[in-house]
Amino acid sequence: MGGTFDPIHYGHLVTAEEALVQFNLDKVIFMPTGVPVRKTHRTVTPAEHRYLMTVIATASNPDFEVSRLEIDRAGLTYTVDTMLALRDLNGPQTELYFITGADAVWDILTWKDSGRLADVCTFIAATRPGYDLERFSQEDAQRLSIEFMEVPALAISSTDIRLRLGERRPVRYLLPESVGAYVAKNNLYAGGL
Ligand code: ATP
Ligand code: MG
Repeated sequence: MGGTFDPIHYGHLVTAEEALVQFNLDKVIFMPTGVPVRKTHRTVTPAEHRYLMTVIATASNPDFEVSRLEIDRAGLTYTVDTMLALRDLNGPQTELYFITGADAVWDILTWKDSGRLADVCTFIAATRPGYDLERFSQEDAQRLSIEFMEVPALAISSTDIRLRLGERRPVRYLLPESVGAYVAKNNLYAGGL
């Protein structure tokens, strides 16, 4: 599961757990992005903070892991490179899935090498409130090997959490308390977006 995780929240965790069970996966690897290709319009929190928040949030789940693969790689992040690296690390017989929200999967159509990506992994697209799956044709879903998965509707987003923190509105129960404590200790997101 790739993401900026700026910060990680219960939407990410619920989605990962649901994919683990519905698709009978061995584990979920959370992969915080290095310099995200699609988020160059705003300053993303330093990778080390995002990595540590992800570690804190997933620490109690034995089926969750966090990888430094993308944050340790210089330059812009392309998902296809990450997937090929994961395949090299785990062997060609390993079945790889890429877990995303339905909003992000729509972008896949425009990702670099989206065709090649479909050969390397299957996408698991979680439904998220506000995103219309009807936009996806059957052919697109098949061509890009996308499986859709229903998760309990969670209207939580990192953007909303950053906004709330900037305005001193509550974020409790939107993300793990331990992550909230890390955010406060390091004074992250005081400036909001
Ligand atoms: P931002 O608001 O900064 O874009 P985000 O909440 O979308 O943050 P990302 O780190 O961009 O979080 O998301 C990583 C992945 O998790 C993406 O595939 C995204 O679609 C998915 N995701 C994020 N929030 C949810 C949610 N509430 N339910 C299901 N999937 C989610
Ligand atoms: Mg997002």
